[in-house]
Parts: sequence; structure tokens; C-alpha cells
Amino acid sequence: MAEIKSEETSEKKSLNFIEQIVENDLKEGKNGGKVQTRFPPEPNGYLHIGHAKAICLDFGIAAAHGGVCNLRFDDTNPTKEDVEYVESIQEDVKWLGFDWEDRLYYASSYFQKYYEVAVKLIKEGKAFVCDLTAEEMRQYRGTLSTPGKESPYRNRSVEENLELFERMKAGEFPDGSHTLRAKIDMASPNINMRDPVLYRISHAAHHTTGTEWCIYPMYDFAHPLEDAIEGITHSICTMEFEDHRPLYDWVVREAGYTVNPPRQIEFARLGMTNTVMSKRKLRALVEDGLVDGWDDPRMPTISGLRRRGYTPESIRDFCERIGVSKANSSVDYAMLEYCIREDLKLKRPRLMAVLDPIKLVIDNYPEGQVEYLEAPNNMENEELGTRKIPFSGELYIERDDFMAEPPKKYKRLYIGNEVRLMNAYFVTCTGYEADDDGTIRVVHCTYDPETKGGNAPDGRKVKGTIHWVEASNAGKVEVRLYENIVDEEKGVYNKEDGSLNVNPNSLTVTSAYVEPELLKAKGYDSYQFVRNGFFCADIHDSREGAPVFNRIVSLKSSFKLPKA
Ligand code: ATP
Ligand code: MG
Repeated sequence: MAEIKSEETSEKKSLNFIEQIVENDLKEGKNGGKVQTRFPPEPNGYLHIGHAKAICLDFGIAAAHGGVCNLRFDDTNPTKEDVEYVESIQEDVKWLGFDWEDRLYYASSYFQKYYEVAVKLIKEGKAFVCDLTAEEMRQYRGTLSTPGKESPYRNRSVEENLELFERMKAGEFPDGSHTLRAKIDMASPNINMRDPVLYRISHAAHHTTGTEWCIYPMYDFAHPLEDAIEGITHSICTMEFEDHRPLYDWVVREAGYTVNPPRQIEFARLGMTNTVMSKRKLRALVEDGLVDGWDDPRMPTISGLRRRGYTPESIRDFCERIGVSKANSSVDYAMLEYCIREDLKLKRPRLMAVLDPIKLVIDNYPEGQVEYLEAPNNMENEELGTRKIPFSGELYIERDDFMAEPPKKYKRLYIGNEVRLMNAYFVTCTGYEADDDGTIRVVHCTYDPETKGGNAPDGRKVKGTIHWVEASNAGKVEVRLYENIVDEEKGVYNKEDGSLNVNPNSLTVTSAYVEPELLKAKGYDSYQFVRNGFFCADIHDSREGAPVFNRIVSLKSSFKLPKA
């Protein structure tokens, strides 16, 4: 098997099947040694993690073979498309780390060209204007086991077809009354080849061409032409287009692109557990107000992942790890979470925040004193340096770091037990105060001044280490905790009405006490909160000195990387 070296790891990595095709084509000197791909989103929604897979492939394969990749808006459908999406798509592709340079194209800028090809096909007797309604056309089409029936309009003369097509273009007919169809083979075992529709009438304004056109090309006609016009060599798309490939090749050939024609290659779409992944379904979540826009941190959109705190590196790493194949499968969402943990764990500071606080009072600590202790910003990465954190006789700790009646293996605070306060001192629990209903309000302890920095000079050990935040300097901030947007175990869809089973617990808004350093966080700054997970300051809702934190992911997962 062919191998290439990955720059970062210098590990040898095997080529995926698309890379092998491209390498072979280069070896055989096809396309004059050129590699040119394209990423062709339809601007009818925001990009999601599935698109990231396609982007990494389209741009990645071109770059790995000295080629280039076009960004092309596949905007031949006048309805549903919008400039808002055109802008967000560009932002997302750039953010992921890819550059189309000056190769930004709009399929709608080729409307005249598609039209000319259509006229050429009519003149050559390879296309005709058909008056069948959509319903009649369905009946004529036949099935997988039975051939279709030829349209009664199939044998119109070239002159009549030209005249009717002109009148379609001139706006003389209502939507749905006529189509232009290719004349191929109604008995083809491939239904896509049974005189497919090339043009339809739609009296709708288009986001770039306005009302200039009222006939619009079908995807199967426009896409191969777009590729051919731009000189694309390898047109990478998802598996559902496999059966359309003969038609793709037919259009390219009949349009006259016979030298170095583009080649369509299909791969499996990315599906993931515990989420939905189609622009249509994601748009429904936005329009139904179930989420805070396309970039809600629960959304699997690129912008949602960015707002949640995912990095471009983590998403590219994910796309690399999931690989490329022709078999559809569903990737565990935990894999994506694994990738962001891996990316952030050494890069970002590990600071202290308490999400569910109770007070810890150190009864033998000098009253009113605040000292500043030096602490590493990330104990696994010295390069991140150190910071000073305030410490005093009144701290916040996590509620579950104390138990009045501890179970056997509990190693944290209970009366009589000694633990380490991270980066600070050993403390021994001496008592607690509770409300009438048993809710614990304050835990009391004493500290050993000899253990500053977290080690005892006499070498005695403690089993537990807990984090804390000094009370008088603590900042109180809003924290948002997330769960999957749909819960796979309960079923993605409601059995009764087919609606999406949105997880009612997908968002929990709470507050946390944080050490002063965290109050400096600006939008997109991310941190590890010791023992609580990775968090990122929300880009929309954070204010100077008052960040709002989104939990990107918790620290632990049962997820294990599949064995390579
Ligand atoms: P959606 O159903 O989400 O709208 P789409 O395929 O209609 O998806 P396009 O804007 O047409 O979306 O897609 C642009 C490119 O991204 C296409 O090449 C498409 O094959 C690819 N793509 C879309 N979804 C996925 C996915 N889940 N996995 C891999 N590639 C995808
Ligand atoms: Mg689409």
C-alpha cells in the first residue's frame, strides 16, 4: 500500500482510497499532472461537522498533491439560499484553516453557460421540452424492476424544442408546466438515466441574479458543468451521488468537455451519535427556537462548535481520525470530545473554579490574612508558567468534597480526615454546620502551616487532593453546562409524531466561584477548570470582568480510541 509521511508525527500513514486514486492519476500523468478539487456547499444553512469532513478532504487532498481547491457556492436553487449563509460559510472554512485564495466561485455565475449547453443539447437532439406534470413524470419513470415509459413529448422537433425552451426562458409559462429533459434511455436500469430533468421553471428571485432567470438548472445538470468549467480534476462528493455518476459523465461528455474531464469520487457521509446532521434539521431547531441560533454551543455546526470552545486543530484531528471510506457509519460523539481534550490539555491553563460551593473555614488560620501562593498554570506543561493565587481562612470547595457520613473508599473531607488543598496546605476536617433540613453550609478544618505548597516536611501522605477558591477574592460567574442535544438512548425521533426528541436537559445554567485569573477571560478563551472539565468564555455573552463560561467537555469519558 502506498504511504506518505505525516509532517507532525513523522509516522508513516496509509493513504485513503481517494488519495490512492489521486496518486495513481498523477503517476499515469492524467490531467497534465494537475490536481484541482472544490468544496461546493449550497448556501442554505450553516456548515456542520459533516461538512468539515468534506472540507478537510477537498482542501487536504489538493494541498497534499500540490493542487488547489476552489470554494464554490452551489447556488443554483433560487429559494432557501441567502447571503447570511454565504458569509458564514466563508468564515467557517477560513477558521478551520483552509484557504481558497482567489478561487471563490458561484455556480449562479454560470447560468448563461448552462443555458448554452442546454441549447446545444436540444440542437443535437439530446434534450427535449416535456409537458408532463411532476406526478405524470413519476408514473412514466418506472421502477427499479420495470422500465420507464417514454414521454409523449419526447419526439418533438428540434425547432419546436428550441422555441418552447426560449418561451420557458422568457417567462411565458408558469412553474411546473414544462421542463427540459435529457433524451437518454427510459429503459436504463439506472433510473437517473431515464430522461432526467435538466431545467425547471421557477419564478423566484435568486440571491445573486435576482429575477434575470426564471428557468433554473437541476443539480445533476449544473454540478458536472460547474466542475468542468472550473477545470476540476477530482470531484469528491458523498455516496448518495454514486448512482448519479453515469449522468455526471454524460453531461460532461455531451457538453463537449472531453479533454481531462472531471472525475466524480464518492465517500461515506459522516453521521454521529447523539446529534442531528443535516442543514434542514438544524434549521428546524433554529426556527423552532429550541436553540440560541445556528451557533448555539449544542449545535454540531462549525460555528456552534467554535462558540462551545472547539479549536480548528481538534476538528481537523477528528476528521483525520475518522478516516475515509465508502461504508456509511455513525461515529461516536465521544470521539470528537476526545479530540478537544487532547488538544487543550497541555495548551491551556488549569485553573480553579468551584461549581457547587460550600464554605470551608480554616479555624487556625490568622484572621483577616490573605496570602498569595505560587501555583503552576498547568502542572503538566511548565511552559505555561505560574501565577499567584490568593489564599485565606475562608474558601469555597465543591459540595461533594465533604461528607458527613462518608462511604468506605471516600478520600476527601470528613471529620478527622486530612487532605491536600491543591497548591496550598494540608487541612484536617474538624466539624461542620448544617441547616435544619440537613443541608451543609460550612465545613470547619485546621491547617498545617508546615505543608505550604502541598507537601509535608515529615513525609506524611494524604489520599485526597481537592481544589478550592479563596472566598473574598472569588469571582461569581455564569456557567453553562451541556448535554447532547438529542439523546440517542431515548431515540432521536419521537415514535408518535416523528418530531425530534430534543433532550430537555441539554442546557443547565448555573454559577461558579472562580479564582481572580479567570475573570480576565475574553470570548473564546478556554481553560481547564481543575476536576470540572474544559470551559470556554462565551463570545456573545461575556463582558469585561464578567465572563460567561460554556463547558466544552467534562474531563472523563468512558470513550476509548478504537485500536488502529
Ligand atoms: P445537508 O443535507 O446537511 O444540507 P448537503 O450535502 O446537502 O448536506 P451541501 O451544502 O450540498 O450539503 O454540501 C457541501 C459538501 O459537503 C458536499 O460535497 C457534501 O457531499 C458534503 N457533505 C455534506 N454533509 C456531509 C456529511 N455529513 N459528511 C460528509 N460530507 C458532507
Ligand atoms: Mg443540499
